Amino acid sequence: MNTHPPQFDQAAFHNSFVDELRGEDSLDLRPRQVAGVHYSRVQPTPVRQPRLLAWSEELADFLGLARPDEQGPAVEALAGNRVTDTMKPFAARYGGHQFGNWAGQLGDGRAMSLGELTARDGTSWEIQLKGAGPTPYSRRADGRAVLRSSLREFLCSEAMHYLGVPTTRALSLVATGDVVVRDMFYNGNPQPEPGAIVARVAPTFVRFGNFQILAASGEIDNLRALADYVIRHHFAELGEPGPAVYVRWFEEVSRRTARMIARWMAVGFVHGVMNTDNMSVLGLTIDYGPYGWLEPYDPDWTPNTTDFGTRRYAYGQQPQVALWNLLQLARALVPLVPDPQELRAGLDLYTSMLAAEQLQLTRRKLGLSALAPDEEDQALIDSLHEALAASEIDMTLFFRHLSQAAPALLTAPAEQEARFREVLTAAAYSMTADEEAVLLQWLAQYAPRLRRETRAPEAIRTDMLAANPKYVLRNYLAQLAIEAAEVGDLSKLNRLMEVLRNPYDEQPEHDELAAKRPDWARDKPGSATLSCSS
Ligand code: AMP
Ligand code: MG
Repeated sequence: MNTHPPQFDQAAFHNSFVDELRGEDSLDLRPRQVAGVHYSRVQPTPVRQPRLLAWSEELADFLGLARPDEQGPAVEALAGNRVTDTMKPFAARYGGHQFGNWAGQLGDGRAMSLGELTARDGTSWEIQLKGAGPTPYSRRADGRAVLRSSLREFLCSEAMHYLGVPTTRALSLVATGDVVVRDMFYNGNPQPEPGAIVARVAPTFVRFGNFQILAASGEIDNLRALADYVIRHHFAELGEPGPAVYVRWFEEVSRRTARMIARWMAVGFVHGVMNTDNMSVLGLTIDYGPYGWLEPYDPDWTPNTTDFGTRRYAYGQQPQVALWNLLQLARALVPLVPDPQELRAGLDLYTSMLAAEQLQLTRRKLGLSALAPDEEDQALIDSLHEALAASEIDMTLFFRHLSQAAPALLTAPAEQEARFREVLTAAAYSMTADEEAVLLQWLAQYAPRLRRETRAPEAIRTDMLAANPKYVLRNYLAQLAIEAAEVGDLSKLNRLMEVLRNPYDEQPEHDELAAKRPDWARDKPGSATLSCSS
């Protein structure tokens, strides 16, 4: 048997989305309203000179793909310049609520799926190119993506995977050799930037919005067909689709969404644009745009400059927004179920499941098992969050240093304040005496609670280190990798890829990538704030 994995352009695609759902195949790429279908067949628009910048080795191994050379047929395929016999490229039709308002048709305006590959374990994975040219859903835009936003999506989706957060994956980052013009600051100053294409990977990229557009246009047969497709392929354990199964399916989407949001909150991830077209029905983090990582713990923080006014998608809003988004999905599913009230169970499940998951994850971050009553630990957690929000303390550093300090807090009560002060010093950007006093009050609740744990101090520390990452994709680190890549230096990107594969490991040789955000990055565009321009 030939065990050499194929190159990407030699891989055998199958096309369940195209073959089983309804599409239009005119290949007319002019922007327009599309009705009556789930997708439009499309053709990528070739780019000048594709060159591989990054490749996700582990994902490729899982998919059974060989690493391509920097240039050549495989990279041509990853850039959309070569469409192979088994690919049937399509752009999905979807709508969505943007910032709370119904926006009508959106759709894959610059993403196109090539088809699905079968991984080594027999599971099926859709491969989607982002930035491969216009589709009927491109509206007034060009269907392209710039290097900075593509690199951010590539790095972050892989980083999230290794952190244990459900996410779409990224296989490759390819420079196009073309320039793309963007007004990065929305200040009337468009500039040419290098273009790039990410090949992203997920079992499916179906979003809440795929259902919404069908319900909004009264295409109930198409709505049911999409639900049946998603359930058969991705929720087969629920059984043959039908009204009762639609209800159970919505509950499962709610459950997965709760899992995802709880994990975002636990690692300090802010998506930035939680529109309903950016919500995966698989509960995967999807569409990495102006996302960011909390540095100072602040529930009001968002990196997205477009959202500075209302802060709808700020860190602390994410749990509520996901619930609102689920409500919009439920509304789209109403035509499929005899009693719409039954969909309420999914919304309630989201709320209870999110609370339970957040409590469990935060207990782990604090080295606590469930031996105290939930209300007691929840009160401890709430007061920590309040104290952190009231000062300027780096979330990631705080929890990581607290993990290291745990054995001392457990075994040497007399030194607990001194040891905790070191944690604060390591994590604080600034701290007044009053703010420190509030945190020490919290310590006076936490330390005795920690000492009620029965596990050995070292075991508690090990557990905490596995729950509190040392390395996250700090906004300024991504920005430094982008600036280097834009002038041809991929070393920073490669180093981040390497380090972020083991975010919970010490990796002392990479300490500087776990450092506090430097002062210069505090308000710098790209490092602290991001526009949607991408
Ligand atoms: P996003 O804010 O990235 O989720 O995108 C919202 C909508 O705009 C989606 O329908 C995208 O496909 C579309 N879109 C964003 N950027 C572009 C672009 N450069 N060209 C075409 N469509 C785009
Ligand atoms: Mg989107």
